[in-house]
Amino acid sequence: MGGDRVDVTSIGRGYQDPHFIEPKPSFLLLLRNADLLEVVGLELEIGWLPPLLDQSRNNRIRPGQPGYLDVSQGVEILDRPTVTVNRSMGDVHPLGNPHYWLDPANAVRMAIQVQRKLAELRPADAAHFDQRLNDFKIRMNDANKRWLTLMAPFRGAKIITYHPSWPNFTRHFGLNVAGTVEPKPGIPPSPSHTLDLINLIKAQKIKVIVMEPYFDRKTPNFIGEKTGAQVVVLYPSVGGRPELTDYFKLFDYDVNELTKALK
Ligand SMILES: [Zn+2]
Repeated sequence: MGGDRVDVTSIGRGYQDPHFIEPKPSFLLLLRNADLLEVVGLELEIGWLPPLLDQSRNNRIRPGQPGYLDVSQGVEILDRPTVTVNRSMGDVHPLGNPHYWLDPANAVRMAIQVQRKLAELRPADAAHFDQRLNDFKIRMNDANKRWLTLMAPFRGAKIITYHPSWPNFTRHFGLNVAGTVEPKPGIPPSPSHTLDLINLIKAQKIKVIVMEPYFDRKTPNFIGEKTGAQVVVLYPSVGGRPELTDYFKLFDYDVNELTKALK
């Protein structure tokens, strides 16, 4: 939304697991000099960001301050637990699924919040941010029509995913996640669960196993060999591959890979 009026750097990279970003000293410098910190929220960053924020000693960007924006506040959240979360359930996110950005409607909701925040911090540039938000909405509307058309033939298709990173994405395109490679969120594959999954894929003739780039391919590949299902690496975030430089390119890539595999 900022265009040339804002200098944007991300701490986590698109090819990294956003639950576990390894802290680096250079992050402290970034945080110390920042006027605004945007977070995904819903505790996605809880394992690594709070200590960095403490050490940065930048009070402008602490939670509750004007320079802190938790984008989850204004989006649609799925998988909100209806029971009290405990460790036996795996690494369940107690506030709901934080991988919410993979739905174009949420992308627009996030962009609106960013535009409002930038306008609040830099009132003199408000018209510029507003113009860029409008451009973004128009581009998103066009791109979304294209993606929905490409995915339309696969409505109702069942897929397996590695981790529950895709509830917003699959709902948007009408896909059904029949199972996950992880027995529970954040818990690595186990032999008995893998066997169950192989049986499920065979019984339901599931064609595709979607995995994120930062997980071990061993188990998905093994399941693929046993069942004939194709393992497809999709990228949850911009920057997952060097050429995926924005949200549109990210979705173009993921939709293209997925439609090829589902055919
Ligand atoms: Zn997660």
